[in-house]
Amino acid sequence: MAGTATSQEQQIVEGVPKGLYIGGEWRDAAGGGTLGVEDPATGETIAEVADAQPDDARAALDAAAGAQREWAETASRERGEILRRAYEKIVERADDLATLMTLEMGKPVAESKSEVLYAADFLHWYAGEATRIEGTYKPAEKGGFRVLTMRQPVGPCVFITPWNFPLAMGTRKIGPQIAAGCTAVIKPAKQTPLSMLALAQILEEAGLPGGVLNVLTAKSSGAVMEPLIKDPRTRKLSFTGSTEVGKKLIEQSAEQVLRVSMELGGNAPFLVFDDADIDDVVEGALIAKMRNIGEACTAANRFHVSERVADEFAEKLAKKMGELKVGRGTEPDVKVGPLIDADQREKVDELVQDAKASGADVLTGGEAVDGSGYFYKPTVLAGVGDGARLLKEEIFGPVAPIATFSDEDEAIAAANNTEYGLVAYVYTSNLKRAFRVVEGLETGMVGLNQGIVSNAGAPFGGVKQSGFGREGGQEGIEEYLETKYVAMKL
Ligand code: NAP
Repeated sequence: MAGTATSQEQQIVEGVPKGLYIGGEWRDAAGGGTLGVEDPATGETIAEVADAQPDDARAALDAAAGAQREWAETASRERGEILRRAYEKIVERADDLATLMTLEMGKPVAESKSEVLYAADFLHWYAGEATRIEGTYKPAEKGGFRVLTMRQPVGPCVFITPWNFPLAMGTRKIGPQIAAGCTAVIKPAKQTPLSMLALAQILEEAGLPGGVLNVLTAKSSGAVMEPLIKDPRTRKLSFTGSTEVGKKLIEQSAEQVLRVSMELGGNAPFLVFDDADIDDVVEGALIAKMRNIGEACTAANRFHVSERVADEFAEKLAKKMGELKVGRGTEPDVKVGPLIDADQREKVDELVQDAKASGADVLTGGEAVDGSGYFYKPTVLAGVGDGARLLKEEIFGPVAPIATFSDEDEAIAAANNTEYGLVAYVYTSNLKRAFRVVEGLETGMVGLNQGIVSNAGAPFGGVKQSGFGREGGQEGIEEYLETKYVAMKL
């Protein structure tokens, strides 16, 4: 591992298994190939993990399919206990897991720790849900027989997750999968495989039987995963990632008519009405924009602000954004880490330059940071015109574009003027307006007077091209259960 890392950081990385986890065993990839994991703060390679090939993927699905029946028959209390033990182990090791996450993904350690605990919450929540899977029994409405319904696991699942929340995007699927009695093969993003490998190690220690969860790390995600999606033994696909890739996977999943959950891209509007407390709004805006360095599907992508308070909001937000310390996420007081890679930083800069060219004013930032790593200055752009690309495209970086509206109808229309529909944020102190606006928004989630919605006990998910299906809450386990109806003559 490269020189910039401390010996404690090196030890944490060394403690994570680097092989594929298949059928309860750690093994090398077929052919022995590996894939390098980079620290985005330095560009240095911090580890090599196995680079799975299609044969490895087949072996992983063999293991999942082979374990399915026994796992479905395992007592729900036992399934829940395994989740509960894994939850406790994650909490115990939260500091090391947070450092590991920062090393491969870049966000400040305090934020990584929040994600680690958020990720653990899904295991905690579904440890309880495992024992609450119920059926129904009733006389048929016209008499003559009984209607019995039972809930059964859908069967082997395939999971694909992104790099921006390396642990939580996995546990949102794995928690309900294990609770419901399904087995799975998961492939984390190639940039951030270490957090998922550490989770597999913890689940193994918590007593998860071999084959229930199998982990593939791979460079060629398409070649490795497509055969699994098209294999008749797979019964469900759950994907978190971009809308572009999600569309391809929906097409692939049509071949076997899979149950599908899609957590895709976002373009969250953040609406500020003139009756809101602007200092409170700025606090919420910083969370909604800067959590995860702006690399979140829930990130406020564009601020639509009443023209009566836009200048005050812009000035206060720019001041706070300009004060945020940028640097390697493992350093104290750093609030803004590097972007995930050079391509992402280039894309962010392109969007900023486009907005500037179409007349936006740069109140702070507006450019990359010189030197190694993929840093970008926290940026606030005021007076952003309708034509600017960053009002339409997911920015995925620390850039806050501000546009204005004159009335409520205009605000709702601007918010809905996108093919995405994941989350929106609304700040107003007028209760009637709050309900009118919330009801008018075409999104799966709304943050009302708060800049964060994520919670393990709540149904997370989008509408329109942000996808379908829900993760978290009671709704989350429904994605892993089938209903069987029995018409029963006594
Ligand atoms: P991405 O490019 O779509 O990749 C997501 C995952 O899909 C990665 O594991 C990737 O693997 C894999 N993948 C890419 N092409 C594939 C293919 N042809 N077949 C199978 N797998 C394939 O997205 P990303 O850049 O990692 O993540 C950012 C996106 O995720 C953003 O759009 C964000 O909004 C979205 N997101 C959504 C949510 C939500 O809950 N709605 C949450 C977080 C993120 P490799 O990259 O390793 O090849």
